[in-house]
Amino acid sequence: MFEKIDHIGIAVSDLEKAVQFYRDQIGIELKGTEVVDEQKVKVAFFPVGESKIELLESTEPDGPVGRFIEKKGEGVHHISFRVSNIEEKIKQLKEQGVALIDEKPRYGAGGARIAFLHPKSTGGVLVELCERDS
Ligand code: ZN
Repeated sequence: MFEKIDHIGIAVSDLEKAVQFYRDQIGIELKGTEVVDEQKVKVAFFPVGESKIELLESTEPDGPVGRFIEKKGEGVHHISFRVSNIEEKIKQLKEQGVALIDEKPRYGAGGARIAFLHPKSTGGVLVELCERDS
């Protein structure tokens, strides 16, 4: 079951500049930042109601976000749906023939467990499943 949009991931080339925009110009409170080595990203979190904006800056040019920006430029990178049982959801989607990037959950920013679906199955949108405690 998809419960809500957990967050929208936005690829940025300059995190500091993007943080200034969201914090100082839009006026959303910055909740924190985290480096996720496995995905070669530095993430900044901006809670908005029940969801969040997550700004993603690549820590290495060859990271997934770095390659995304090289191909498509900055912009919306993925949409993350909150699910309550990620293993079960992955299994169901796989049985329905949905192409997956991750067949097993992996670590996501903020202590979440995440898995990506392949954009070829989702009309070109990188969709993330996300399970977390709070
Ligand atoms: Zn995400």
